[in-house]
Amino acid sequence: PRTPDPLDLLDLDALLSPEERAVRDTVRRFCEEHTDPHIAEWFEAGELPDARGLAKRLGELGLLGMHLEGYGCAGMSAVDYGIACLELEACDSGVRSLVSVQGSLAMFAIWRFGSEEQKTTWLPRMAAGDAIGCFGLTEPDHGSDPGSMRTRARRDGTDWVLDGRKMWITNAPIADVAVVWAQTDEGIRGFVVPTDLPGFSAPEIKHKMSLRASLTGEIVLDGVRLPADAVLPDVHGLKGPLSCLSEARYGIIWGSLGAARSAFAAAVSYSREREQFGKPIGGFQLTQAKLADMAVELGKGHLLALHLGRMKDAGTLRPDQVSFGKLNNVREALEICRTSRTILGANGISLEYPVIRHMNNLESVLTYEGTVEMHTLVLGQTLTGLAAYR
Ligand code: FAD
Repeated sequence: PRTPDPLDLLDLDALLSPEERAVRDTVRRFCEEHTDPHIAEWFEAGELPDARGLAKRLGELGLLGMHLEGYGCAGMSAVDYGIACLELEACDSGVRSLVSVQGSLAMFAIWRFGSEEQKTTWLPRMAAGDAIGCFGLTEPDHGSDPGSMRTRARRDGTDWVLDGRKMWITNAPIADVAVVWAQTDEGIRGFVVPTDLPGFSAPEIKHKMSLRASLTGEIVLDGVRLPADAVLPDVHGLKGPLSCLSEARYGIIWGSLGAARSAFAAAVSYSREREQFGKPIGGFQLTQAKLADMAVELGKGHLLALHLGRMKDAGTLRPDQVSFGKLNNVREALEICRTSRTILGANGISLEYPVIRHMNNLESVLTYEGTVEMHTLVLGQTLTGLAAYR
């Protein structure tokens, strides 16, 4: 038997194929080289400097839209994609968010529902990291209930004219293209909106205490005129944005474990080195109980992610099962970060260690892509057949 690895007590590594381990090692090396050395500084400054350069390097590695087929995308498996999300988020949830929004929201929407022309125009550039995408669903007054959105697209001759406002949109301030969801006379439709059109602006949202190394913006649509073919032809209604969200949530099931792993790793090593009352704090039973509980949750979360990933690759994964994974893994990852924070004592609140950064980031992850309450209600509906949303 192998010597125990504190970060993998169940030897789950053995469940991965050599190719999957290679994906993990490649993304891990990428982070060690390009993002890990700077991330605390970026977080503190509240910026993601050279986001375009970063996107380009992520594109060169095949990580943008990596689970999509064709149009310059890498065509990897769902498990490969999940492993990449985990390693990226072990660096920072902001870096993983850049990749998730690009691949699972903006690119997926075009790939799944777009016209051939929309796909050939945008997907190869987005896969290469030459064009950045964002996904505008949430509005200032409509978050968990996007069906009530007020952004509107009206016909003017054959053109469409968009008016409204989107809020909390990741990547918006630097995006070249926005997938925007709007009410029309035919219900909710999606639009592929180049961000250089007159009437489009995306001011950055400042003063965030979470996901600080990620660009978040509003989208203001003030009479943005689009040609008839800017609409996503193959989807009507809320199922369009919701199916994109299901893709991104899947990545979060894995990604959140990365944030938890980094915080836990810091807690394990700190507990072995920090001495109080004449011995390492890891030698106290209360500390050991915390560490043991965290290791158990981390292992369970991994098993869950891998199980759901194998189902996704087999084509059998249901949206309520994605909710199951997102609900559990983000909630437990946040709990692991909070507990790790206590083990580091006062140092736990310092950006000298990764713990509070991950903890603060996961507060956003708990809320975006469906809040913890919404995913609870999804499971409640699956269990009882009764919808309790309204
Ligand atoms: P609300 O919907 O107002 O909810 C407030 C509280 O009420 C929550 O606890 C919620 O669970 C609870 N609640 C609401 N309805 C019910 C109910 N029926 N029963 C019980 N509880 C309920 N959106 C995008 O479209 N694109 C993005 O790229 C994007 N990026 C984001 C990045 C960050 C950093 C953040 C913080 C958010 C981002 N979002 C994005 C928005 C995110 O998806 C929304 O914040 C989320 O859906 C919740 O909406 P809300 O903030 O309006 O909260």
